[in-house]
Amino acid sequence: MSNKRCYVEVDLSVIRENARILSASLGPGQEMMAVVKADAYGHGAVPVSLALKEEGVRHFAVSNIREAMELREAGIDGQVLILGYTPACEADKLKSYDITQALISEEHAQGFKGTGIKAQFAIDTGMNRIGLDGDDPAHCEAVIRSYRDEVQLTGLFTHLCTADDPSSDDFTEEQMARFEAVCERVSDLDLPYLHCLNSAGGLYHNAYGKLVRFGIVLYGLKPDRANVLPDGLKPAMTWKSLISMVKTVHPGESISYGRTFTAEHEMRVATVPVGYADGYRRDMSNQGSVWIRGKEARILGRVCMDQFMCDVTDIPEASFEDEVILMDQHYNADTIAALCRTIGYEIACDISKRTERVYIHGNNGKAEKF
Ligand SMILES: *Cc1c(COP(=O)(O)O)cnc(C)c1O
Repeated sequence: MSNKRCYVEVDLSVIRENARILSASLGPGQEMMAVVKADAYGHGAVPVSLALKEEGVRHFAVSNIREAMELREAGIDGQVLILGYTPACEADKLKSYDITQALISEEHAQGFKGTGIKAQFAIDTGMNRIGLDGDDPAHCEAVIRSYRDEVQLTGLFTHLCTADDPSSDDFTEEQMARFEAVCERVSDLDLPYLHCLNSAGGLYHNAYGKLVRFGIVLYGLKPDRANVLPDGLKPAMTWKSLISMVKTVHPGESISYGRTFTAEHEMRVATVPVGYADGYRRDMSNQGSVWIRGKEARILGRVCMDQFMCDVTDIPEASFEDEVILMDQHYNADTIAALCRTIGYEIACDISKRTERVYIHGNNGKAEKF
């Protein structure tokens, strides 16, 4: 048992198994692009990407140039695509690191003219976030062709905005059709990478294009709460802390800031040295639970910056320095997200730097610190 104050254990064997299951679900000739932006959704981009590389993953997507360079410096040698904005003044760096840049508009693309960087045009098919206007395929075609000799075009991509919602399937099909129409117009260019599917798209829609950009499902979490994941996909994170103090609280006494919880009977209360500065959501105040010796302990009062309290009245064996589980495969980021009225993505990304990440390779694996 560890007496670390607060850490997330990431089981890389779970992420590898998730990747194997997802790869097996793809059609012939299709490959996964692992989306490892935002430090692999809080799991740690470098260890996750190195583990995926060992599973044969050759395409990685990030959100910005710092994330891309971090992967290269760690020895990731496949395709690294930046899905978002990079200023044109970084063209030399993109080139020397062999990073592929998304071109998010004509205005953005102009800055990269003549640089010869690897690039892919984003096509906007309905998200209205980035990309050339997919409602005007003739214009998309003209722009794409005009960049043939200015950059090294390696593909086109679009992003689906409601693929996780079966009642919006018509819209998703329209988005894919718009994308396909643009791709068809430039099919003579033989661009190697055409891709439109995120996790939900990959799970629920017939893929068009070579790559499927799997993000959230690689980490065993759901695009939407209502989704059912394929058998075998599991969350890879276990968030652990310990009891720093146990005390008795008498009837009428209150707990934590603002006195939002008052004891009605005598209670045993444990303090846990984790707070919102570690990324543990303040929305869990008086709502969430943690797990001690396999039993549920409700959070009492407000979550503070660095600590919170929980009810161990019914766990008499709970004592100083006992392990506390804040999140595991069952009570996972999606469970916490439901309580906090958000999505598992945000819960995972918000676990802060102050929470140490420890890597294991299966239950019997040796822990390894990055
Ligand atoms: C984040 C992102 C993804 C991955 O989305 P998931 O829902 O996590 O699979 C794919 N494509 C783009 C453009 C993204 O921004």
